[in-house]
Amino acid sequence: MDDKDTTPIRKQYLDLKARYPDTILFFRLGDFYETFDNDAEIAARELDLVLTSRPVSKGERIPMAGVPYHAVEGYIARLIEKGYRVAIAEQVGEPTSRGPMERRIERVVTAGTITEPAMLDEKRPNYLAAVVIEGKRAGVAYTDISTGEFAATQLEEDGGYAGDILNVVRQELSRLHAREVLIPKVGSWKERSPDQPATRLEETLAGLVATNFTPWPGYRFEETAARQTLLEHFGVRTLQGFGCEGKPLAIGAAGAALAYLQETQQGLLAQITGLHTYATDRFMAIDASTRRNLEITETLRGEKQGSLLGVIDTTSTAMGGRLLHARLAQPLLDIAELEGRLDQVQAFVDDGILRAQVRQALKRTPDLERMTTRVLAGRASPRDLTGIRATLEVVPELRGKLEEANRRISKSTKGFGELLEGLEALPEIAGLIAEALVDEPPAQVSAGGLIRPGFSAELDGILLATKDARDWIAGLENKERNRTGIKNLKVGYNKVFGYYLEVTQANVNLVPAHYIRKQTLVNSERYITPELKEYESLVLNAEERIAELETRLFREICERVAARAQALLATAQALARIDVAASLADVAARQHYVRPTFEVAPALAIEGGRHPVVERAQREPFIPNDLQMDAESRIHIITGPNMAGKSVFLRQNALIILMAQIGSFVPAERAHVGVVDRIFTRIGASDELAAGQSTFMVEMVETANILNHATPQSLLILDEVGRGTSTYDGMAIAWAVVEYLHNHPERRARTLFATHYHELIEMEEHLPHVRNFNLAVTEEGRDVVFLHKVVPGGADRSYGIHVARLAGIPAPVVHRAEGLLEELESGEFRPGTQVQEPELFQPMLIAQEPPVVEMLRQIDVNSLTPLDALTKLYELQKQVEEKGGKKRKK
Ligand code: ATP
Repeated sequence: MDDKDTTPIRKQYLDLKARYPDTILFFRLGDFYETFDNDAEIAARELDLVLTSRPVSKGERIPMAGVPYHAVEGYIARLIEKGYRVAIAEQVGEPTSRGPMERRIERVVTAGTITEPAMLDEKRPNYLAAVVIEGKRAGVAYTDISTGEFAATQLEEDGGYAGDILNVVRQELSRLHAREVLIPKVGSWKERSPDQPATRLEETLAGLVATNFTPWPGYRFEETAARQTLLEHFGVRTLQGFGCEGKPLAIGAAGAALAYLQETQQGLLAQITGLHTYATDRFMAIDASTRRNLEITETLRGEKQGSLLGVIDTTSTAMGGRLLHARLAQPLLDIAELEGRLDQVQAFVDDGILRAQVRQALKRTPDLERMTTRVLAGRASPRDLTGIRATLEVVPELRGKLEEANRRISKSTKGFGELLEGLEALPEIAGLIAEALVDEPPAQVSAGGLIRPGFSAELDGILLATKDARDWIAGLENKERNRTGIKNLKVGYNKVFGYYLEVTQANVNLVPAHYIRKQTLVNSERYITPELKEYESLVLNAEERIAELETRLFREICERVAARAQALLATAQALARIDVAASLADVAARQHYVRPTFEVAPALAIEGGRHPVVERAQREPFIPNDLQMDAESRIHIITGPNMAGKSVFLRQNALIILMAQIGSFVPAERAHVGVVDRIFTRIGASDELAAGQSTFMVEMVETANILNHATPQSLLILDEVGRGTSTYDGMAIAWAVVEYLHNHPERRARTLFATHYHELIEMEEHLPHVRNFNLAVTEEGRDVVFLHKVVPGGADRSYGIHVARLAGIPAPVVHRAEGLLEELESGEFRPGTQVQEPELFQPMLIAQEPPVVEMLRQIDVNSLTPLDALTKLYELQKQVEEKGGKKRKK
């Protein structure tokens, strides 16, 4: 770029930057996206780029760092990952002699608004959420612009305890796993005690929901402004059809989210075609810590492998993967709906051949949902269209197979009926794409060559008209070599000179007279001929026209595809449902899962239940266990040694119920589930230490949440309560908690309570609905063998010391612990007295300093004469010998 250009470009840059101050601005300059000033320093640091500089006026230079345009996605992805937002300024229009090219912000990329396939996890939704809280109510909206999903809900506080609405919001956000959450810029949260200072909403939710918070102007969340945004976008007069009328906070959150999308996407939002208002009471409630503790979609370390999803997700398509993920996050309460889903799984379990065929066919369907969405957003590539075609071409075969199977299935079940709803082959769309685009088009329209010959007479005409010219140029090299006898004559092309003939210096004397010299290089000369230039202009003109025409044709095809977007998206959803059913059936068949049955009463009968993840992960055979609960026996106290399998047993029951309520078969021989409205867990220490709470505090907060919200339909998994404090404190709390759950009419939840406090087994005698169980062990000499079997009755020993030995605690410590335990149990605890077993306690005696050491220490080396030194040495040796001698004598 010329020097005279720098100032106007600088101004252009600063104008754009001023409008998007909180983003890293990627400014297109030719083949690069450049960043400047502070942005350049950040980009250089975060992306390992070379920081250069650029003159802006005489003598003044500013920092600059750039990335090549074709690799930009990877760089943006890395910045987004680190929590930055990136604005992309593209060049538009033609360069003029008067000033720099016009540049416009095409979009702002943020964590919650990504559409690039390379930056998305294909089997997970990528949600942007918006939250607004007002008193005891809240609005939550979420949207995934890569699929067009858009939903909102209004939440109410349930229970009336301080901080409750926040809990409810947190629960919903933890289900969504949103990548980015919009909150009102001035949003703050104050618990309902007058002396509690208000904290920023962001801080209150942070740490509890790990995500990016983006403050967004408060008025955007207000009902009036938000309603206007929604009405205008959808071109409707009322929000009635979306089900959110009368829910001002749901409207507020939805409107705020939409306005944010409009700003980041610069208006290209055709993929958001509707809003779905939902009520959370249709689904099982799972609070954030339970989601984490049960490792439903990811492990505590954040990995899918090792989670429940990791075991049951064998989906063949990205759409199916996302649907299963979403279903796991929202188990159902409605038995009829569950039976419908299970009928579908059953049908696939019963017909292994059909299942294999369907799964095979699904493997050939790329991500129809995200591809259609990109078409709607005006960001489709030629390969998105051929992907849509590939998917649609699989549909007739799939439909045929399922319909045929459906006729065979007994009429007592719904079979595949519901699965097929919306599944359309759309032959006109598949046909259009097949006719218009070559089978393997380039990734970019600008690369050219995407339109199939025969589709456009105009395009074919141009190609035909210039065929001669292109052939002529293509044949020129050979022709001229023969004619001139210059064996290494070359025909080349560059942007500055167009086509040229290149001859090395050694052969210049052979060049014919009509060649016109254009350029001299070190080793060669470049020439043109008038004839070559004539053909060249034909070809270049045509290429420009071809490029324009291809771009226009592609846009038109996209428009025709977009017109059927609703049908395409419905088909995508049908494919996802088929995929999930077939995938769950596949796992069920391979892992020997059974179909669960349901009832409304709070009973539970699980026979031969297994932990779906542990049974896969460990080499030893997994021992199945039963669980029988009803109104009479709804609190089970589970005792047993460490390592016996208490935690596994607790979790496996929660997971079996969860699986049943998403409509999956379960790892058991028989499972009858009284529908669970909420699962609560209180398990181990969690990572909320980061939020500034002690382990015991977290334990108590979780316990409080359970005691305040459990219902008679709930399931409680309590793996130790009161562990983080002194024994008596802890035991007292645990006892009182169980008593409360037993006696309080509204809190009579089904409860599995594992504990090391053996004293608690006495509760069975006092509380009629409490039952004791323990994990059986047998003792073989000093060894303890874990049977991993749950049997009735309480355990009276922990075998903790045994486990300590297994863990490699040094023998003296284990031995000492055994001695102390004996004293404690016999009531003769005498701290400080040691069991007299000299050979074992040798290491401890060493800890007491031998007298020689004291003697050594007292020597003042500086004032010691050589003779004194020798004498001392003699004394020391004598001391040691005496001691050793004594020992030997002994
Ligand atoms: P602690 O009291 O120390 O927390 P625990 O009783 O809760 O111990 P778990 O963590 O549930 O013990 O189980 C310990 C190990 O025993 C598991 O990691 C698993 O390998 C094995 N195990 C548990 N249950 C079974 C089972 N039913 N069949 C086979 N192995 C099992």
